[in-house]
Amino acid sequence: MIKNNANFQVKLQEIFDSQHDLYKQGNVADYIPALAEVPANKMGVCVATIDGKVFGAGSCTTPFSIQSISKIFGLVMAMNRKGESLWQRVNMEPSGQPFNSIIQLEWEKGIPRNPVINAGAVLIADVLTSNFSASKLAFLSFMRKLASDDSIHIDKHVYKSELSHGSRNAALGYLMKSFGNIEAEIPDVLSQYFTQCSVAMSCNQLASSLLFLANKGIDPKSNEVICSPRDSHRVNAILSTSGMYDQSGEFAFSVGLPAKSGVGGGVIAIVPGYGVICSWSPPLNRFGNSVVGVNLVEAIAEELGLSIYH
Ligand code: GLN
Repeated sequence: MIKNNANFQVKLQEIFDSQHDLYKQGNVADYIPALAEVPANKMGVCVATIDGKVFGAGSCTTPFSIQSISKIFGLVMAMNRKGESLWQRVNMEPSGQPFNSIIQLEWEKGIPRNPVINAGAVLIADVLTSNFSASKLAFLSFMRKLASDDSIHIDKHVYKSELSHGSRNAALGYLMKSFGNIEAEIPDVLSQYFTQCSVAMSCNQLASSLLFLANKGIDPKSNEVICSPRDSHRVNAILSTSGMYDQSGEFAFSVGLPAKSGVGGGVIAIVPGYGVICSWSPPLNRFGNSVVGVNLVEAIAEELGLSIYH
């Protein structure tokens, strides 16, 4: 835990500086061409606590494509709207497969393994499309409210790039629809999913927006109930077992925090009862997780003794 604010700020900068060159070990995602345009050496980190402290280093106020980190917010909206019935359409088990794998989905009759792999997130996008009258606007408004920042926007360039390279996500959607597990039309579902992935936010904004998951579902900034304590627990459990895809086991082993990555290079980690860490560096490892992002979260969690398994 942070005992002295000034000392921790110095330590955070030290950790940040010591990790910087590691970005050379990864590769920026290029299957969404717009993501490959972001300079590989960009890097930022933020630690926000539920008692209102914010520590940052590097480009922590620069917006980046949140990509799969958006899966958390979509899931919370769908849980709030559908309650228990949601879990008849999506499971809560780790997949042991790459994030965009299709192979399991046929064996398991169109029921995604969990809501934070692509198949599960496309299903969640269907829930939002089918249950909100203006689902994209509802999503953006939710993000703006959670971050207390109306400047948060959708990066249209990334959106278009995803849409024109989204065949695999379309395949996941059509396969689920063939099993009767998608209600809306696939182009509408994909448009919702890509909109969510294309939201641009900074480390500071992301860390702030996720504080409710460190605080039993209540946003400590406004005291507003964002979700029930049980759903906050459930989201954190899913992030612990599946949030870092097929690196989730190793991440639990070495870091020990519920976490989620995105192919834009962001990583968020929830510290229940304490706060949120968000790191960003575009080059990814073979699991699709940011090389520096993972290392930064690990170093900070170790420095502050934050593992939930202690
Ligand atoms: N939009 C990306 C995709 O669908 C999200 C994947 C990710 O961030 N892991 O492939």
